[in-house]
Amino acid sequence: MLDTLRKIVQEVSAARDLQTALSIIVRRVRKAMNTDVCSVYLMDHRQARYVLMNTLGLNASAIGRVSLAPSEGLVGYVGQREEPLNLDDAPAHPRYCYLPETGEEQYHSFLGVPIIHQRHALGVLVVQQKIKRRFDEREEAFLVTIAAQLAAVLAHAQVSGSLTVAPGEHQQMVRFDGLPAAPGVVIGRARVIMPPADLDSVQDRVCESIEDEKRVFLAALRAVREDIRAVGLKLANRVSAQEQALFEAYLQMLDEESLGAEVLKHIEEGQWAQGALAFVVKRHVKYLEKVEDSYLRERAADIRDLGRRVLSYLQAGGDVPREYEDNTLLVGEELSPTLLGEVPREKLAGLISVKGSSNSHLAILARAMGIPTVMGLTDLPYARLDGQLLILDGYRGQVISNPDDKLRRQYELFMEEEKALTESLEAEAGLPCITRDGHRVPLLLNTGLAADHARALAYGAEGVGLYRTEVQFMMAERFPSEQEQVSIYRQQLSAFAPREVTMRTLDIGGDKPLPYFPIEEENPCLGWRGIRFTLDHPEVFLTQVRAMLRASEGLDNLRILLPMISSVREVEEARALIRRAWVELRQGEGLQIAKPRVGAMIEVPATLFQIPALAERVDYLSVGSNDLTQYLLAVDRDNARVARLYSGYHPAVLQALAKIAVDSHACRLPVSICGELAGEPAGAILLLGMGYQSLSMNLASLPRVKAAIRRVRVEQARELLDKVLSCASTDQVVGHLGVFMSELGLGWLSGPKG
Ligand code: PEP
Ligand code: MG
Repeated sequence: MLDTLRKIVQEVSAARDLQTALSIIVRRVRKAMNTDVCSVYLMDHRQARYVLMNTLGLNASAIGRVSLAPSEGLVGYVGQREEPLNLDDAPAHPRYCYLPETGEEQYHSFLGVPIIHQRHALGVLVVQQKIKRRFDEREEAFLVTIAAQLAAVLAHAQVSGSLTVAPGEHQQMVRFDGLPAAPGVVIGRARVIMPPADLDSVQDRVCESIEDEKRVFLAALRAVREDIRAVGLKLANRVSAQEQALFEAYLQMLDEESLGAEVLKHIEEGQWAQGALAFVVKRHVKYLEKVEDSYLRERAADIRDLGRRVLSYLQAGGDVPREYEDNTLLVGEELSPTLLGEVPREKLAGLISVKGSSNSHLAILARAMGIPTVMGLTDLPYARLDGQLLILDGYRGQVISNPDDKLRRQYELFMEEEKALTESLEAEAGLPCITRDGHRVPLLLNTGLAADHARALAYGAEGVGLYRTEVQFMMAERFPSEQEQVSIYRQQLSAFAPREVTMRTLDIGGDKPLPYFPIEEENPCLGWRGIRFTLDHPEVFLTQVRAMLRASEGLDNLRILLPMISSVREVEEARALIRRAWVELRQGEGLQIAKPRVGAMIEVPATLFQIPALAERVDYLSVGSNDLTQYLLAVDRDNARVARLYSGYHPAVLQALAKIAVDSHACRLPVSICGELAGEPAGAILLLGMGYQSLSMNLASLPRVKAAIRRVRVEQARELLDKVLSCASTDQVVGHLGVFMSELGLGWLSGPKG
């Protein structure tokens, strides 16, 4: 049974279009269950009726013509109740409705199961038989399982279908729902990024023409050489001669004399180009991964990367487009932060990612860069969108393809209003961030890429509360050298001096992979992340800390922050390494560097109960409410399926945040917060009420949060906090916040996300 089920799902998933998918379903299910009839009804939202979309057993002429409202017939009944209905004599049921066009009067037994996708009944799958008998339990379970598995496939096929048009037909407007990840509205054209080619899924195949295969392989090789040269040129003034040599080495690996020659040899033996390439690359990688020498081991990743680049040319004639037009919307199954570096900022208008959610790091970066973004569009047939005109609504989390003129005008109007709002906020930018009763709240900046420091300073940022150093590591093609890091950190530190800059040590792992250091884990968020990784790789940690210290020479405004701390031992070990680096630089090289203040992030729930112990070992705390929410609620911050459950306004999260503030004050330990909650106007008011001393947020949030804080009194913030801390649910909290914000006339600053 399991095998049959798997085969059906596979076949349906591979179907070209919705009709093919449906006909496979009715044919295969009827055969597997040995019934007389199998039919699929799908909900047509325009008519609000279940339409018979395909059948084997009923009159074929009824397909597309027969339909039932949810209040009609057994099919409507199944859809309405969202439960299976198993009857030995259907005509005897009070909800039975006789449809003469179908010719179903001869069938007595009826088993209908709802097809449910994202909590909505998408349709009903029905099997019928002439004889009067109840389908047994196993049959019912089989149909329920198959309907559940097919729901997502059908939903996907349905929306894909609405994007395909016959010649001469007008393309329909389609709205796709996802998750709002970075605010803003844009109208632009889609540029689809296909996933990187996968060497492991290439199959062996005997080629038809050796000459043709050699020709396409050499062409792909040439194209990749061109790409690498172009990247090398782009980076020429940013990297040293030594690193330029690395690019040369890369180019040599591709040479027809080395890797290239081996692939050609295999093609000559009759293998097709893709198979020959995959074979040669995988053999080298396997060998290199086993050698002792760590330099050579790292070359394995280089060779795999090169192999993928060549393969992507062989498979699709190219990978990432190199020319981008204005208002480009990057669309992909799982866009990675690395891509942000590939598209010129002035061309990039928005990001659309099938996977991920508003709490993913891509979303955080997009917010920091002010790029409207929608993620978690699980049903988006992204591969078909290339070149299409789209509206991206980063407030509602929607993408609309082929918008009609009316909708387009509405959005254009909205964009103008938004511009006016931004201008009015900018007018307040130079004013101090104080509450109406005179309490000062320092606002700090969260940054990762080269920060727009001029704007941040103009908005009154009092320093950097979180510099995510991993972003630079993610953009690179290997670990950045100490000197490279020094120059990047120096830029940051000097741009903000004498204000303090909090640099977090490398926080990779989880949803922040390094392309050149893949970590394969079953459960990456609970795995080798942040400080766990760097303590296991002291050479990486020490290089980074030394670079930070060197960069701070003469400025003395560096603070070091340790991510993912879950025990005091980690703090002690990290501090010992930091001290070692500091002493070596002072004594060994005579550098005059002030001792940096070192802090721990509170983002693993265990640390909630260890604040006094931490207070003896660190100079300050910074709360990472993004991960704290993820771990407290056991909701993967990157998983669109459970994104509804992720909220910084969950009463448990608020209780935790309040406790951290109380315990830190009791220990006289400075505490700030750098999670996304601090950048939401309502969140910032609550944190003010809790007593957080400073709030760190992305650039775009600074003026909004300042506008909110300037319009409240501390007393009001405390009263609001008391109210929400006694709430039982997120909905109640969000309700209170909504009322509070509109009573204060702050609704325009956009209320909190639920
Ligand atoms: C956090 O977890 O809240 C945080 C600030 O760090 P990151 O989002 O980079 O994990
Ligand atoms: Mg974190």
